[in-house]
Amino acid sequence: MSKIIVAIDGYSSCGKSTIAKALAKYAGYTYVDTGAMYRAIALFTLRNGLTDEAAIIAALPQIEVGFVLVDGAQHVTLNGEDVEGHIRTLEVGNRASQISAIKEVRAFLVAQQQKMGEAKGIVMDGRDIGTVVFPKAELKLFLTASPEVRAQRRYDELVEKGEKPDFAAVLADVNDRDYRDTHRAESPLRQAEDAIVVDNSNMTREEQMQVIYDYFDRFK
Ligand code: C5P
Repeated sequence: MSKIIVAIDGYSSCGKSTIAKALAKYAGYTYVDTGAMYRAIALFTLRNGLTDEAAIIAALPQIEVGFVLVDGAQHVTLNGEDVEGHIRTLEVGNRASQISAIKEVRAFLVAQQQKMGEAKGIVMDGRDIGTVVFPKAELKLFLTASPEVRAQRRYDELVEKGEKPDFAAVLADVNDRDYRDTHRAESPLRQAEDAIVVDNSNMTREEQMQVIYDYFDRFK
């Protein structure tokens, strides 16, 4: 079987990365978490106090985003530093959602992502993978779940990390991010016409993976 590109898009907190990682393992493919790349740039802007668009654009040539494997898990790097432990916070997520609306930031990362897919054999997740990064991807999945279900998952994750979140605030955050991701002028989140929609609101992880493995197996 020749290798393909799998593009996985969808809303925040709908389990994209878990699914993408599991599928990459199943297929023997490389997994790329593009959200982590936007989060790494967001972290750079927070650390350096960059807020205005022009300053962020001017800083792009000083930013190098990459990945390293640590005990089999993919960690994102920022100028050579493993920043995986710093990017999964609400603050960085919100900043990522803001800076991802900047055209130049998107062009900067999209070019790198397209390079990563040149040899195919890749599972990439994000918001614009099936529409902009790889419009010709052989398999496109669009994941969705209700905002309440996604907020509950996010809430449980935060509790597990020892935080004391407020459910209403987490839900408001999910809705805000959805709004920003779907309404920005640059590459808004939308389903590619040829994407397969998987609504996992009422599916177990196993049920969902079976559906997705079956779609993948059609390319065998
Ligand atoms: O997927 P994750 O929550 O880690 O992404 C963080 C933010 O980065 C998203 O809210 C979204 O605004 C942005 N993003 C994007 N395009 C991608 C991946 C992420 O705009 N391909």
